[in-house]
Amino acid sequence: MSEEMKLSKVELLKEASHQLRGTLADELQNNKPEFSDDAATLLKHHGSYLQDDRDTRKAKGEDGKALGKQYSCMVRTRIPGGRVTAEQFLAELDLCEKLANGTLRITSRQGFQLHGVLKNDLKESIRTINEIKLTTFAACGDVNRNVMACPAPFKSAVYEQMQALSQELAEHFKPKTTSYFDIWLKDGNGEEVDVTEFKPVDEPIYGTRYLPRKFKMAIGLPEDNCVDLYTQDLGLMAIVENGTIVGYNVLVGGGMGRTPSAEKTFPALAKRICFATPDQVVAVSEAIVKVQRDYGNREDRKRARLKYLISDWGTPKFKAMVEQYYGKGLPDPHPADVTGVDDHIGWHEQGDGKLFLGINIENGRIKDEGKLQIKSGLRAILRRFGMSTRLTALQSVILCDIDPKDRAEINRIMAEHGIKGADELSLLRRYAIACPAFPTCGLSITESERALPGIIDGLDVAIAKLGLQSSKIAVHMTGCPNGCARPYTPDIGLVGKSVGKYTMFLGGNPEGTRLCFIYKDSVPAEEIVTVLTPLLAAYKTGRQGAESFGDFCARKGQAELETFAA
Ligand code: SF4
Repeated sequence: MSEEMKLSKVELLKEASHQLRGTLADELQNNKPEFSDDAATLLKHHGSYLQDDRDTRKAKGEDGKALGKQYSCMVRTRIPGGRVTAEQFLAELDLCEKLANGTLRITSRQGFQLHGVLKNDLKESIRTINEIKLTTFAACGDVNRNVMACPAPFKSAVYEQMQALSQELAEHFKPKTTSYFDIWLKDGNGEEVDVTEFKPVDEPIYGTRYLPRKFKMAIGLPEDNCVDLYTQDLGLMAIVENGTIVGYNVLVGGGMGRTPSAEKTFPALAKRICFATPDQVVAVSEAIVKVQRDYGNREDRKRARLKYLISDWGTPKFKAMVEQYYGKGLPDPHPADVTGVDDHIGWHEQGDGKLFLGINIENGRIKDEGKLQIKSGLRAILRRFGMSTRLTALQSVILCDIDPKDRAEINRIMAEHGIKGADELSLLRRYAIACPAFPTCGLSITESERALPGIIDGLDVAIAKLGLQSSKIAVHMTGCPNGCARPYTPDIGLVGKSVGKYTMFLGGNPEGTRLCFIYKDSVPAEEIVTVLTPLLAAYKTGRQGAESFGDFCARKGQAELETFAA
């Protein structure tokens, strides 16, 4: 960072926070339903966001007066590679009923989220998550967040190595501050730190101000980019030869967020910069994180992600700096690149005589509603069979290590609870994801999770009429341009623009290797299916060979696509 730069308010806050403590411990003792702004900012590093119920902001009490904000917290569990035991899964389900809003959400980064946790219950929630040997620490905030990895539980060295690397990276980049332990886990009241006595621990990777902004890592394969490598700050693409990982193509500077009113912001695909052997990959990752730490923008948070540093410098300069931090030159990437994607839904052989079952959870929301009793159904299966599980980047769950003789009974329990199998769901629904948006996200402009199922219903009908059911078409929806559900790389991206209206992006693909372009702005939710139907019809008649819908849209471009709508 250049010396002339003026540090942003958040940078000053982090630096003066006594390693992410601030006034959190003190504020946990008061009876207020919310945290101060500064404490809420630091709270993110501990895995929680202060939120309020957007549905009730304008609600009035019996006296006719506005109720005011109804505060609660989102609590995110960081789960490298999405690996969760049956006991941990069941405990999170219990927790969502005891202290949250009765639902558990699988995130698009293979984590769990609880919503609606009151401030008074925050400590108990976090302690319970730690008691089951999971953590919320560094699930959010200006640090390396959850390390994603392909969750498929194939019994092969390749898949096991990717999972092992996700654990190693998560541990390596965990902040060293003891503030998390002191505030949430230590017996007693976690009193505010005595600043005169305070002795910081060494933070060799993060330093005193941590990173300029969030940092995201993922590990995947060329033939299965289910973790969306090109959208990550650091994507590691495993290169396999003779059944073992010989190294990783290193991709840097992907990121989804944009602010439409600020041209200086943009979504970006990661750039391939080098190849690193398994022995080198952690040290190379550390060099990349440290370059971002030292040169990332700490003045303007809108320009603080790694993608802007790489855009400003260019890839050669960035790579040269990484090599300097690493201590030697790094070879060019291996020619292999992404060729496919798999949602891992349905029954599969694991490779050791056992089976795994991927169950699609619409938008990741585990709940009981009407005939669809996902929460009870998963509980029944996990209690009875006790299998380990994996969370996927498409907000779904994989049940692992299933004895083939149990398959029929598991299918029966699923059917009894209204949970659909792979062959009962359209490909469209399986590859659709949405961020939470209303009513919990403070940044949401409009609906996402609550709006997408209806849109998929409508598109399913249109696609069936056109006979396109076997086409893999990915729809990602978000309630604002921040892009938490990665809406700038699928075939169809729907990004909240104003209440009930969306910017429609087209031209990406399910493999996540191309950025979309804006097809139409401010499309009302109820017109999305109508706008897309003639384009799907044009795709049906005009596609070339096995061209996907996204490829077709990219080939035609925005102006020609518009002629199909006329
Ligand atoms: Fe909230 Fe926007 Fe992220 Fe959706 S994309 S969860 S609305 S910040």
